[in-house]
Amino acid sequence: MEANIIDGKALSNRLRESIKSRVEELKSRKGITPGLTVILVGNDPASAVYVRNKERACKQVGMNSSIIKLGEDTTQEELLRHIERLNKDKGVHGILVQLPLPPQIDPTQVINAIDPRKDVDGFHPMNVGRLVTGQACLEPCTPKGIIRLIQETGEPIRGKNAVVIGRSNIVGKPVSLMLLKNDATVTICHSKTSGLDEICRRADILVVAVGRPNFVDNRYVRDGAIVIDVGINRVDGKLVGDVDFQEVRQKAGWITPVPGGVGPMTITMLLENTLQAAQQNE
Ligand code: NDP
Repeated sequence: MEANIIDGKALSNRLRESIKSRVEELKSRKGITPGLTVILVGNDPASAVYVRNKERACKQVGMNSSIIKLGEDTTQEELLRHIERLNKDKGVHGILVQLPLPPQIDPTQVINAIDPRKDVDGFHPMNVGRLVTGQACLEPCTPKGIIRLIQETGEPIRGKNAVVIGRSNIVGKPVSLMLLKNDATVTICHSKTSGLDEICRRADILVVAVGRPNFVDNRYVRDGAIVIDVGINRVDGKLVGDVDFQEVRQKAGWITPVPGGVGPMTITMLLENTLQAAQQNE
């Protein structure tokens, strides 16, 4: 039997409706309009598209949104000055610096400069530390979206074997922590893992964040597993995931498509985080 599709676009649309009404409520109750400022440094075309999509999504739900565009040759000091100003600006509840940054800028220093209460990407060490220790925090958007997609299946995460392929700071590590927080038994795999296919075949939940087109095929998948494909790869002008969708859908119980799975949820979680940051400042 073919896998059920976990429709990230439909779930996103539902969640955005709910965010929109919560934004309206915050406006009418407290006179606060949540505001996100995105800083885009340089001319990366993919980053420009992501930033435009974020701005459009903010407007759709009634949030304020602005983009600060800085040149490719921007110095780290200039960028840090912008962040310092935004940290103090009461109308700005969320600050996001679009990655990657040009080579003269150290992303770690930039992330560390953002006020953790405005760190809607959830990358600041304060938020990461709070996530590790199980405290409330601004959670990183893609992992947060992945958990929602898994919950959408109606299958409990508790007690499940979860395998995550990838250990990046933005996807693999945080999603592993969140699965653990939800009482899964978690295995984290990476490029030095031996016997990867065998480990993956034990997964009830398989999260794939590798960045290689069609990396995961049926040899990695247990019958009925929940498979979350985080990958965004461009092949011959088409977007494809890290999972061979056509093959794996014959074996998995649930699967996310690319596009239309994790991608839309990432932006929706950014909206949720911006709303959360604005509510904290009430
Ligand atoms: P990174 O390149 O930072 O990390 C990739 C991970 O995959 C690394 O941990 C690496 O291991 C591991 N890996 C690479 N090759 C293998 C292999 N042969 N076997 C096992 N593990 C391997 O990528 P990101 O985590 O940033 O992103 C992953 C994918 O998700 C990308 O396609 C990216 O575009 C996409 N993405 C999608 C988002 C969305 O909103 N949908 C958001 C963010 C990312 P090692 O650590 O040993 O090098």
